[in-house]
Amino acid sequence: MDQARFNKTAANLWVSRIIPLVLIGITGYATWVVIVLICAKYLINPPPSLHTPRHGAGIAVLVLYSILLLLMALTYFRLLFTVIYNPGYVPRGPQWHAQQEQKARERQQLRKDYSKKDSDNSKDVSEGNRDSASNAYIYGGSLGSATTQLAPSIRDFITKDAFVCQGDGRPIWCSTCLNYKPDRAHHCSEIDRCTRKMDHFCPWVGGVVSETSFKFFVQFVAWTAVYCIFSLIVTAFYSAEYKRKTNTINIHWLVALCLAALFGMFTIGMTGSSLQFVLINSSTIENLSRKTIVWTLALYMPRLPETPPGFRTISYSTQQVPEGSNASSDQAAGVVRTFAILHTKPGENPFDLGPYQNFKTVMGEHWYDWFLPIRYSPCCYHDATDSQFAMGPVVQRMRREAGIQVPEALDEEKLHRRRKRRRRRHRSDTAASREAEIRHDCNLNEKARTNNGNEVDLESGLGHTNGSVQ
Ligand SMILES: [Zn+2]
Repeated sequence: MDQARFNKTAANLWVSRIIPLVLIGITGYATWVVIVLICAKYLINPPPSLHTPRHGAGIAVLVLYSILLLLMALTYFRLLFTVIYNPGYVPRGPQWHAQQEQKARERQQLRKDYSKKDSDNSKDVSEGNRDSASNAYIYGGSLGSATTQLAPSIRDFITKDAFVCQGDGRPIWCSTCLNYKPDRAHHCSEIDRCTRKMDHFCPWVGGVVSETSFKFFVQFVAWTAVYCIFSLIVTAFYSAEYKRKTNTINIHWLVALCLAALFGMFTIGMTGSSLQFVLINSSTIENLSRKTIVWTLALYMPRLPETPPGFRTISYSTQQVPEGSNASSDQAAGVVRTFAILHTKPGENPFDLGPYQNFKTVMGEHWYDWFLPIRYSPCCYHDATDSQFAMGPVVQRMRREAGIQVPEALDEEKLHRRRKRRRRRHRSDTAASREAEIRHDCNLNEKARTNNGNEVDLESGLGHTNGSVQ
């Protein structure tokens, strides 16, 4: 990383550390206005000249405000914690670390050369080295834990049945981090790292909102919007009442009202757009080209076609797949896996599973996951064998059109069709037999009416159908 980029990144990080402190200060001020000035001094213990104490209203406002403040604080600190300690960075490739070591060696050599020539210069150079060392620590160690995690290898892609690829069928390569980019990963210029399902760089929390933190971000902006709306209603209502009674305006109440209106509008907008991304399974980055983007996908071909297909293919040998990976036994034994290289239509989203499933993959399976910042999004776990992120009907259609359905999907589809046919046949058989039975009973009834001697036998033998016949 060159010095200019490092300065820009460091400045961004410092600014983003200050903004949270400003937000905490504003929230503290609003809390003082609502709890101390409105609840305690105006509603519960007002001056005798103003009105009698209103304990019920005071306690109700106090309790509701405290609950909303707690939920907002919980989601904020969960988001902050995740952004700092589990930001979703992709580990850099081994070549990147080799390059850094090479650069460090060169700098060391340079320092030795300088120290021989000019003893005065040696101090400056060593300062520079200390800076570089600290850069390496910040960007390689503490933020990304790149030295403790392995960068994605080619095996992480080819053992799946589908992955996002370049035009030639290879996984997408980041030339800065020197690693393969997992599906939906994006290189963040602010921190100079590839980040899994990056959404945006958020100055509110001083980091990147990614697949690990997007759920908490949505919860934070949503609860903040509710908190601002509640604060706005309380301050507006009692400011108007106070104005009527005293013909004056409390300046603190007015400031709190303006802040609630300002942040309320902002967070309502953020909540709306974030929820939209959740429902369509997209991100702020992906949304920039949502209507025109064409995804290139490598889709596993379970059977090689007898005639040349009308699309490009790429084959990988899986001999090197280590034991314990997600690969099946035939893959681990070292087979060649061939993938079709196919393109979506412009604007299609291969990860769109439908609004409800999209919502659940981000916000969680249970209703309490949707409201409370407890667990990570289900889409953070990439242990499924078919793809890193679940792929939806668009990919099924692409497979069907190319004639490369995987056997499981084929079987499942066949089974579904077979079950449907059986149900339909069963329904029509049941209806036909029921009709025949009814007709038979009618005939018997007719006979019984014409022949009184058989009536008792008829009722005892076919009693269960009589009711429906008559
Ligand atoms: Zn990168």
